Amino acid sequence: MTDKYSYNSWLSCNTDTQKDLFLKSLVNDIAGIMDITVIEDAVFAELNVDIYGVYDYTIKTIKINRNFHTGDNMRAYKELMKTVVHECRHAYQYQYTLLHTNPLSKLILKEFIGNKDQFTENDAFAFEERVVELLLEK
Ligand SMILES: [Zn+2]
Repeated sequence: MTDKYSYNSWLSCNTDTQKDLFLKSLVNDIAGIMDITVIEDAVFAELNVDIYGVYDYTIKTIKINRNFHTGDNMRAYKELMKTVVHECRHAYQYQYTLLHTNPLSKLILKEFIGNKDQFTENDAFAFEERVVELLLEK
């Protein structure tokens, strides 16, 4: 996984189409590892300036803000990796609610529909930090 999605691999994507394919493949591979279902292909999209990415649980898809993540520098690359892992974690959280009917499931669902400062956000941020370290480890 490391070489396929390394910084150099990202830099070798010279067109928007190649960047779109990189994203789609990355999300599919991470989704496979996490055993989550992402129905639509992940895409770069025009999102609000304060949003890095979104997981839309209603259609099980991930959108990444084009304006933050298509730059050819290490910062943009790391943010891209973190955002993808973060949004995959939200997909994982949501999938839990589909597979289980219990108080935790109900709480997660409530947080998805509710506002920020949720434990699902804190969980996704902690997850992205550690998993991206793992992914980029040589
Ligand atoms: Zn989040």
